[in-house]
Amino acid sequence: MKSPDDSDSPFGAREYLQAHVAKHPEDIETLVALPKGVSRNVWIYEHMRLACIELNYFVGYLHIECTEESCPEMVLSDWRFLCAAHRPPRSCTALYYIVHTLDQAISILTDVDQFPLLASIPDHSLKVLKDMARRLDRIFMHAYTMHPTTFHKFENHYHTYSRFARLMQSYELVAENHLTHPEFTRRYANS
Ligand SMILES: [Zn+2]
Ligand SMILES: [Zn+2]
Repeated sequence: MKSPDDSDSPFGAREYLQAHVAKHPEDIETLVALPKGVSRNVWIYEHMRLACIELNYFVGYLHIECTEESCPEMVLSDWRFLCAAHRPPRSCTALYYIVHTLDQAISILTDVDQFPLLASIPDHSLKVLKDMARRLDRIFMHAYTMHPTTFHKFENHYHTYSRFARLMQSYELVAENHLTHPEFTRRYANS
């Protein structure tokens, strides 16, 4: 496999990740490991971006069963989450929480003030990605706990959560006490 520094494109890391995910989505360890010539923060950013894109596909399946009746609020274990896409944050149905969180994540990732140069992402922008990772994890956990059949069907094909869990673990994005199901996350990160 070519390494990203063989490419002249400014989107070398992105192309490299997309090409490898398309070929071997199950190869979690290789996919998450930092490739030669790519900065750590850029690699985290590209993984987060791809996770948002794949979660958007997932919403296409989830919306059929995650309804106002089945999931009137974003509740996980004993926690009830407010949707931070609003000022002030407020309660949304689980599906709206998911859609609003993804919309907000995409607009942050494409914000040129926050991420002006994709080739170099400063450490202070990493904090934004960590907050985002915590929220994206809740989306996966909602699906896993409330819509397990759909979650597993999607995961068996895309391996999005395995990759995301490994990313969080390898790059220490989210502290264990901020994960709603740390044992599950650990199991997927090491699958
Ligand atoms: Zn639901
Ligand atoms: Zn909302």
